[in-house]
Amino acid sequence: MATREKSQPRGTCESFLERAFDLLDLDDDRRQLLRAPYREIRLELPLRRLDGSIKLFYGYRVQHDHSRGPFKGGLRFHPDVDLDHFVALATLMTWKTALLDLPFGGAKGGVDCDPHELSPGELETLTKRFTERLDGFIGPDLDICAPDMGTGPREMAWILESYSKRYGYAPGVVTGKPVALGGSLGRFEATGRGVALVTRWAIEERGDDLKKMRIAIQGFGNVGSHAALFLHQAGAKVVAVSDAGGGLRRDDGLDIENLREALGREDGPASLNEIDGEGERIGNEDLLALDVDVLIPAALGGVITADNAGRIRAPLIIEAANLPVTCAADPVLRERGTTIIPDILANAGGVTVSYLEWVQNRIRYRWDEERVNRELEEKMRSAWDDVARRVSRDGLTHREAAYLAAVARVLAAIEMRGF
Ligand code: NAD
Repeated sequence: MATREKSQPRGTCESFLERAFDLLDLDDDRRQLLRAPYREIRLELPLRRLDGSIKLFYGYRVQHDHSRGPFKGGLRFHPDVDLDHFVALATLMTWKTALLDLPFGGAKGGVDCDPHELSPGELETLTKRFTERLDGFIGPDLDICAPDMGTGPREMAWILESYSKRYGYAPGVVTGKPVALGGSLGRFEATGRGVALVTRWAIEERGDDLKKMRIAIQGFGNVGSHAALFLHQAGAKVVAVSDAGGGLRRDDGLDIENLREALGREDGPASLNEIDGEGERIGNEDLLALDVDVLIPAALGGVITADNAGRIRAPLIIEAANLPVTCAADPVLRERGTTIIPDILANAGGVTVSYLEWVQNRIRYRWDEERVNRELEEKMRSAWDDVARRVSRDGLTHREAAYLAAVARVLAAIEMRGF
């Protein structure tokens, strides 16, 4: 799956974008302006391993657009990343922040390492070296980093330390920090919370009742497990979940709290498919093809392709992962009448609370979790309403409506500022 994701995300992103350009009837010059990243950085990162050997890694940061505010985007530590991959994901961030009307642009980056193969000390050195070599390119008003796959609050704390050593205390250089270091309450759960909210609104838009819905979720990490938890708590039946090792299904609904508790135990199972007594085993491909009301891909990109799109039976797909449906699968699903809520809307809860964290850092004040969750819901609802209005008024798909709104906003900012 990782190899597939590496080969197709840029093409997928460009294809969705071209559709918005066509709808806006943009000339070639403007298309070029909106497509091309502002800056693409590749860094050499040598690391002396604990055994004395030297291993060379590459670090990347792609900054796509900053016409509406500083660049903003996650850092992914994964062996299968490259510059092309980050161009697609950085571009996606630009449309996501614009759609949510956050005062940020788009960026993405990371290191081509497998964090599970490195000791905590080695990872700390690598993360701090990456930060040092990005000197001059990141900062609270320049480019703000956040966690993505393979990184979390710990890595953000290391970046904060490395950056602050040179520039003085600057918590706003990263979001998704530990709460004790200026992170926001509610940030950790925010993406999953946003996915659950958008799922509820999409179900209501179809005239259905969340409590009667059967939902399958691929990926049970931060995003997938929180989305599963909030949907389960809201009364939906989460009938299947999976992670990299495989999954579990239970037709009368899985006990999500039990699964999270089992995986969270220090001596607990490493994967869902090592848990006994909670449901039947199911593979990742079979989960995608289940006869459910809602399918939520929340792991890697590129999992729904032209090859398996014909097997998808869920009438509603919520893109919790980035780019989980390829550009080749998208028209196949559209033809079958499947509604897809695009990633730039569905998983925008994380960057929205990252924005709230950045604001709290600037005013040196902490809001309680209730306020953070309330503001998250208001911002996501406003973006949802905008998209839903365009869908019903103009006969667009949710993806077309979301891209259209986002691209128009970025283009307006570029035109106003000049370049
Ligand atoms: P994570 O590392 O916490 O979890 C990833 C999950 O996917 C794990 O359960 C893992 O076992 C599973 N997985 C990995 N390979 C798989 C495979 N081949 N088949 C099935 N499952 C597999 O990552 P996350 O933070 O939950 O991110 C998940 C997705 O959501 C990514 O695409 C990420 O870019 C996107 N996203 C995350 C955030 C955020 O705030 N964390 C925000 C926006 C988008």
